[in-house]
Amino acid sequence: MRGLFVAISKSKRRAAYFWAILLAIPVLFFIWLMRPEEGFIRWLYPAFILMCAGWAWRLYRGVNLGAIERETIATVTLFFTIKLAYYLFWGNLEQNWVEIESTYWVMAFVMVLLYIVFDARKGLTYSLALAVVTLILGLLRLGGEVAQGQYRTEFLAFVRSEMRLFAMAGLLYALAIVKDQLALANRQVEEMHALARTDPLTGLPNRLALSELLEEASQHMHGLYLVLLDIDRFKQINDRFGHAAGDEVLREVARRLRVSMRKEDVLGRWGGEEFMILMRGESQQDVPAAVERLREDIAFWPFKLVGPVSASFGVAEGHIGDSIHALVERADRALYEAKRLGRNRVEMSPA
Ligand code: GH3
Ligand code: MG
Ligand code: MG
Repeated sequence: MRGLFVAISKSKRRAAYFWAILLAIPVLFFIWLMRPEEGFIRWLYPAFILMCAGWAWRLYRGVNLGAIERETIATVTLFFTIKLAYYLFWGNLEQNWVEIESTYWVMAFVMVLLYIVFDARKGLTYSLALAVVTLILGLLRLGGEVAQGQYRTEFLAFVRSEMRLFAMAGLLYALAIVKDQLALANRQVEEMHALARTDPLTGLPNRLALSELLEEASQHMHGLYLVLLDIDRFKQINDRFGHAAGDEVLREVARRLRVSMRKEDVLGRWGGEEFMILMRGESQQDVPAAVERLREDIAFWPFKLVGPVSASFGVAEGHIGDSIHALVERADRALYEAKRLGRNRVEMSPA
C-alpha cells in the first residue's frame, strides 16, 4: 500500500516539487511586498520564504525525498493552521476573510500532498484530522457569533470551505484506493508474466521466454550466435541415480553455465536437458573459444553424487535475411553432429 501518484518516479516528483517551490517563492515575496500592513504576513512570510529556499536547496542537493516531503507537509500544515487561527481570532473578520479563504485552499493542497506521501489509510486519517482542526477553529470563532445573528455571510463561506475539505478528503481516499488496486492488479499481471516465462527447476528463461528473446534478437541477425547444448547420456544418469539426482544435475549445469557466461549473453532452458545460449560475437574466433570454455566448465569437475557429466554443443551463426527457424535448425544439426562424433564436443554449423 503506497500513496497516490507514487507511480510517478522519484526524480519526476523531485523536479515537480523543486519547480513548484521556485514558483512559490516569488509569489510569497510578492504578497509580502504588497501587504506590509498585515502583521502575520509581514513577520512570518519571510521565515516561510526562507524555509522554501531551504527545501529547494535540499531538493536540488538530492536529500532523501521522503524526509523532505514529510517535513514540508508538517511545516506547511503547522504554518497555515497558525495563519488560520491568527486571522480567525485577530482583527476584523470581514477584512480577514480573503486570507482565511486562501488558507483553505492551501489546506486542500496539503491534502493532495498527504495522499502523495502516505498510503490511502494514513492519507485519510491525516486529511480528516486537518479538516476537523479547521472545523473546530472556525466553530470556536464563529459558532457563538452566528448564534447572536452576526457574521452570517462568513459563516456560510466557512461551511462551504469545510464541506470542500471533507469532500476532498473522501474523494482523494477513493482515488487512492482505486490506484492501490490498479497497482496490485498490475503487479499480479507482471508476476504471472514472469512466472509463465521462467523454468521452475533452474530459474532460467523457459522456451517461451527464449522464443520471445529470439524474436527480438532476430532484428539484428548479423553477429548473433545461437548455441544449443544437450547433456550427454542424461537418461543413464536418471536411470542410475534417480530422477531427483537428474534434476540436481540440470540445476548444476545451469549454474555452471551461468557463472562462466558473459553477463550480456542469454541462457535459457530450451526443453528437457537441452539449453540454449544467445550470444553476440565480436569476431568469429571469439564464439567457438567461449563455447569451448563452457563445455570444459561442465566436463572438467565431477558432479556431486553422479560423477562426471558432459554436454554436446551445436553453434550456428546468424546471417542477414536469416529466419529464426533456419538458425535454430542449423544449431540443432550441429548439435546432432557433435553427438554423432562422440559427444562432449562443440560443433560449428557450416555457414
Ligand atoms: P544423448 O547423449 O544422446 O543426449 O543421450 P540422452 O540420454 O541424454 O538422450 P535423451 O534425449 O534420449 O534423454 C533425455 C532424457 O532427459 C529423457 C528424459 O527422461 C530426461 N529428462 C527430460 N527432462 C527432465 C527433467 O526435467 N528432469 C529429469 N531428471 N530428467 C529429465
Ligand atoms: Mg535431449
Ligand atoms: Mg541428452
